[in-house]
Amino acid sequence: MNAAGMHAGEDLRDLYRELILDHSRNPRHFGRIEGATHTAEGINPLCGDKLKLYLQLDGELVTDASFEGSGCAISVASASLLTDMIIDMPIGTALDYFSAVTRRLTTSGDTDDDAPHIDLGKLAALDGVREFPARIKCATLAWHAMHSAIQHDPSPVSTE
Ligand code: ZN
Repeated sequence: MNAAGMHAGEDLRDLYRELILDHSRNPRHFGRIEGATHTAEGINPLCGDKLKLYLQLDGELVTDASFEGSGCAISVASASLLTDMIIDMPIGTALDYFSAVTRRLTTSGDTDDDAPHIDLGKLAALDGVREFPARIKCATLAWHAMHSAIQHDPSPVSTE
């Protein structure tokens, strides 16, 4: 990699770090939504992250989403990015994102040809977490909760 390429990479990492910080300090869609049709709890005992996800589904569409709870910056930012992204999204697409994000964070990612080909957009900000394996469960917690909520699974999601 030449010097210019390295610099661009660092700029991107800074941008992603800013995005994570922004979403953790000012979480979008924080709080309970009235009329939620699906909910699920997620717990990550390793870090102490605990959140509850609320979804309002109408037919095949996610019409509203929110979360509440407490956790580290990465878990809160991930839940904020998730809710921001899936509102007005077809349920099937939201589940495709679940697959893409969890596979990307739990495998080597770039070489995984079987993963759904999805433009992660802002979610690529979560990529930096791959450098810190202990934090991957923080980043995927909200996604597992969303998956559980859509499946109507009543038992809380635990990363353990
Ligand atoms: Zn955490």
